[in-house]
Amino acid sequence: MKSGASAEDVRRVQERLAKELPHLHLQNIEGQELTIIAAVGDARAVAELGLQSDPSVDRVVPIDQSYKLAARQTRPEGTRFLVGQREWGQGIFRTILGPCTVENHESALRAAQICADAGADAIRAGIFKPRTSPFSFQGPGREGLQTLRAIREATGLPVVSELVAAEDAEVLGEVVDIVQIGARSMQNYHLLREAGRLGKPVLLKRGLSATLDELLQAADYVVGAGEERVILCERGIRTFDQSSRFTLDLGSVPVLQEKTHLPVFVDPSHAAGRRSLVPRLAQAAVAVGADGLIVEATTDPDHARCDADQQLDVGDAEHLLKQWHAIREAIA
Ligand code: PEP
Ligand code: MN
Repeated sequence: MKSGASAEDVRRVQERLAKELPHLHLQNIEGQELTIIAAVGDARAVAELGLQSDPSVDRVVPIDQSYKLAARQTRPEGTRFLVGQREWGQGIFRTILGPCTVENHESALRAAQICADAGADAIRAGIFKPRTSPFSFQGPGREGLQTLRAIREATGLPVVSELVAAEDAEVLGEVVDIVQIGARSMQNYHLLREAGRLGKPVLLKRGLSATLDELLQAADYVVGAGEERVILCERGIRTFDQSSRFTLDLGSVPVLQEKTHLPVFVDPSHAAGRRSLVPRLAQAAVAVGADGLIVEATTDPDHARCDADQQLDVGDAEHLLKQWHAIREAIA
């Protein structure tokens, strides 16, 4: 729509689309200066409506890619939004630090406080864990909700935690500031829709073997369910090489930033799988222009019940955060 278009103009065009092409998925994307009406379904039929002749329509742009709502054309200026007190989004660098999993209330709270004091923007801590083996520690489950609440209260920072099952969506959505969808759930489309209905930003991790177009189509599920605040996260993919847990695809960061308006984070911890590799992969992720990092750090990593090999010692958080911000400034 043209920048001067009124709410009435937007409604008129939307109604015409809905009436003439009832099978379209219609969604308004409100930018700072203008509104874009995303009409997903049949590009040719939309083009044939001749909407350009409406005086309030600026132009009709067909999006040829398989993903639509996440495509850069739907929000050319890049997505930005508030998480707690701070702005996050494309072109801004934010950090999420904290333990892989809440193992007990006190140690999670202590680790979170150290990360907060070191200058992290948000705290991560899983309570529902998608483990490869059913015999591994699955996290405290709902019992951990009170710890997430306590972390939020004590640190004053936003909390990020993973949603694994749709039946936990509401209770988790009430206590977290960002809902994480793990790599193993990226193609759980039902869960993506549930996450998109909670009214909280969603951190969407790339599946272990997912292409970038598949990741962006997964993001379309979340945005299509009503949640435009989606953070994409590269966390390593399966390749022929077995020398690290996964292969961190740093090239995905600039590629995604060309394809989409959504911010792109990197998780070097799960990609590396080994503590010694994490700091340098994190540095590289900042240098390649990531919009943020999510890194695992805890108080006693060697004895962690989940991801012991890769979690950093929280004692190193302050030094690492300084380093990341220095790299970010150097490339600005
Ligand atoms: C996690 O962040 O705790 C996690 C399980 O990561 P991923 O889904 O990327 O494996
Ligand atoms: Mn982990």
